[in-house]
Amino acid sequence: MGKVKDLAYQRIVVKFGTGLLTGATDCLNQELMSGLVTQVAELHKRGRELIVVSSGAITSGRYRLGLSKKIRGIPYRQVLAAVGQSRLMHVYDQLFSRYNITVAQALLAKADLANRAGYLNARNTLLALLELRVLAIVNENDVVAVDEIKEARFGDNDNLSAMVANLVDADLLLILSDIAGLYTADPHRNTGVHLIPQVDRIDAEIERLAVGTSSNLATGGMVTKIEAAKLATASGVTLVIADGREPDVILRVAAGEALGTRFLPTTSKLESRQRWMLSGLCTKGKLVVDSGAATALKKQQGSLLAAGIKQVEGDFQQGDIVNIYNPDKSRLGCGITNYSSVDIATIKGVHSREIATLLGYDYGSEIVHRNNLVVL
Ligand code: GLU
Repeated sequence: MGKVKDLAYQRIVVKFGTGLLTGATDCLNQELMSGLVTQVAELHKRGRELIVVSSGAITSGRYRLGLSKKIRGIPYRQVLAAVGQSRLMHVYDQLFSRYNITVAQALLAKADLANRAGYLNARNTLLALLELRVLAIVNENDVVAVDEIKEARFGDNDNLSAMVANLVDADLLLILSDIAGLYTADPHRNTGVHLIPQVDRIDAEIERLAVGTSSNLATGGMVTKIEAAKLATASGVTLVIADGREPDVILRVAAGEALGTRFLPTTSKLESRQRWMLSGLCTKGKLVVDSGAATALKKQQGSLLAAGIKQVEGDFQQGDIVNIYNPDKSRLGCGITNYSSVDIATIKGVHSREIATLLGYDYGSEIVHRNNLVVL
């Protein structure tokens, strides 16, 4: 496949999984980490903008406290993260200081990013750190993230890293773990499988491959990586999944070498408000449209009208963000709705002129206005 445009990858988010940082043991492996840090430092020296998303806090805390893996639950996980996060940062601080790079800890919680102000604050902080040439090391704020409420946590750093790439409008997200990429079948259980070098679009077949692939990783597996790939590529970011133990992997991928599996962006760069809408952080419901509406929206023609809506799901109000789906249930995009879910249930499928009669009021003929719509 050869090289792709090297300079295109100016802003790079690199994610290190727990399995990689520990060398599949129960504690951080500083020698392995040192090799990764050296590569990040080299790119930093060459003027690239980098952000690291690092797992390993919980494992590190567990090791420090000498506790068994069998003890689980909350607040146990939160205690381990509280102990381990400072140790993790201590190691990074020491390793990066060899290259005179100052590190910063950025702990993100999903709930904080769900509102627009929180999203912008996190974005501004990360961008300011990049400008100051300080290396942000991001993790989920596991101390406050509530496990029981699935929606309130990222839960895995694959999804978190895609959110970071979306936040800062990165060119490349490089997810490094102990698996070389996406295979045609589970490499742990099958022979004759081969690595898929490039995915142009994540379809049902790619999702099926991910579900069938096991992983030694602590939290993420291929499923969370594909979720991350969906968000990253929809946000205009290229994502590469590669084996972090491959020599000089960060330098080589950043130079455009075809290593691992590369997922191509499905949109060109989007503006910040559109990326926030696409992040799914704040999506309240779902609209399924008919094929006529789907075609028109994809051709960037007009707004979404009531007549084109087949189905409405979820409980949302006027002004909320909703996901929009094709008739085959694949995601078409998202947008800000002018009508609540209750209203849409009444007016779906009807001509715009009937809205006022059916509801007794009318907020205009567009359910989602073209200007408030992001099509993937
Ligand atoms: N935030 C967790 C940690 O630092 C890791 C989550 C993950 O591995 O995906 O330990």
